[in-house]
Amino acid sequence: MPYRDHVVAVFGGAVSGAEAAWQLAQRGVRVVVFEQNALPYGKIEDGLPKWHVRLRDREEARIDEKLTHPNVTFVPCTRLGRDLDFEDVARNWGFSAILLATGAWRDRPLPVPGIDDYVGKGLVYQNAFMYWFNHMHEPDYDGPQVTIEDGAIVVGGGLASIDVCKAIMMTLVEERLRQRGIETHLFELDKGIDRVLQAHGLSFEELGLRGCTLYYRRRIEDMPLTPMDTSTPELLAKARAVRRKVAENAMRKFFFRIEPLHVPVDKIVEGDRLAGLVFRRTRVSDEGRLEQIPGSEREVRAPLVVSSIGSVPEVIGGIPMQGQTYKLVSNDCCMVEGFDNVFAIGNAVTGRGNINESMKHGRAVSEALAELYLCDSDQAIGDGIRATEDRIAGGLPRILRRLGRRQPPDEATRRRIFERVKALQQKVGYDGNYHDWIARHKPVRLEELLSREGSVAH
Ligand SMILES: Cc1cc2nc3c(=O)[nH]c(=O)nc-3n(C[C@H](O)[C@H](O)[C@H](O)COP(=O)(O)OP(=O)(O)OC[C@H]3O[C@@H](n4cnc5c(N)ncnc54)[C@H](O)[C@@H]3O)c2cc1C
Repeated sequence: MPYRDHVVAVFGGAVSGAEAAWQLAQRGVRVVVFEQNALPYGKIEDGLPKWHVRLRDREEARIDEKLTHPNVTFVPCTRLGRDLDFEDVARNWGFSAILLATGAWRDRPLPVPGIDDYVGKGLVYQNAFMYWFNHMHEPDYDGPQVTIEDGAIVVGGGLASIDVCKAIMMTLVEERLRQRGIETHLFELDKGIDRVLQAHGLSFEELGLRGCTLYYRRRIEDMPLTPMDTSTPELLAKARAVRRKVAENAMRKFFFRIEPLHVPVDKIVEGDRLAGLVFRRTRVSDEGRLEQIPGSEREVRAPLVVSSIGSVPEVIGGIPMQGQTYKLVSNDCCMVEGFDNVFAIGNAVTGRGNINESMKHGRAVSEALAELYLCDSDQAIGDGIRATEDRIAGGLPRILRRLGRRQPPDEATRRRIFERVKALQQKVGYDGNYHDWIARHKPVRLEELLSREGSVAH
């Protein structure tokens, strides 16, 4: 066991952090996983829309398995940058290496001057929106509040923005059907609002809803909904057709609209609330460049604006930044500049899951895949998560090689590390019994509530 005396800190216990911890633990490394939340599941719990019940449960069980490896010590409710100082941990604690698996939880700011003054007053960002959507049914929920209103605007274009549109439409339709005495639920509506309406002999128009509209800066065929193979003109044309089909399928099943070729340039304010956005039209040049069309502005009024234009890593004091991501030493296992023992992994590197990587995970670009993203997206997302794990596993040998060249901490340092870790665990009331802790902190699931009420859950 060449790595036996090494001790590695991993910040973030979700897909990336758990995979890294497990890979290292199997090689004899002692790993301490610090997680800011009580539950270590990250985007799986708070970002993946809650209608993906089976996928969520499966992925969470995988994380549980990895974090209960005997060489892994879990420290919940401990946030780097708040409860622990990054530079202190990196320079003074004596860890052999520190892995940042903290994901991407900061929404990219909507580029409209002054718009952030209206967060919670007509504007909500995607991460807060999805958190609310996933948890609002919990009896003791006290997080951000969102009121979904008909005629909302979503600014985006990627898969997450489609999920936001689906969530809005399902919520609106569920409410309208309830007013007509028809009880349905999310898991039924996820199969397609069109199917549910058809089963009740209703048309969408009869509900009297406007629905929501997704504004995207490029053309529908440019929406990053499926991987893009641009190696030949035929493949490019095919990939564009597939993207259009995905978007059209989603609109047909969930009754939202997409307005392509629009960028937000200004806000409409009424009193102390955001009342909509001013969009400028765009065009895509033959070379693929996006050009704004001067004088083409139009006002779009809306009771709610959701910004879903991507997530980037959160700023943590002491970690050098380059633009919106961590500053890394190029081509060197994502080593954070200025620290030869700190590495960023997973979504913390780029701020997003890499669809192209998930493609390499055994699936060809095909129409079937495109359908999967919306019809059986569990399979597609599961593939994406496997790809993330593969990326972590594939990158670790380089980190391990560096580790092999370092002196492990001496016994006194190791003892001190674990004394501090124990103190942190005690501070948050964690006694080391992982399964018991998880059982105590798992929130009530919507499907449990529905089955208690006697509705078919899913
Ligand atoms: C809807 C959806 C679609 C996806 N599609 C794809 C795809 O197409 N292709 C693909 O490759 N992947 C895809 N994925 C997978 C996804 O992008 C990642 O693989 C994975 O979910 C992200 O894992 P992560 O551990 O890097 O980040 P996260 O899940 O964000 O986990 C980060 C963890 O770090 C914790 N943390 C954050 N800050 C701190 C701090 N300061 N201190 C301590 N802890 C902290 C967080 O609480 C969280 O638990 C998809 C995922 C979802 C949910």
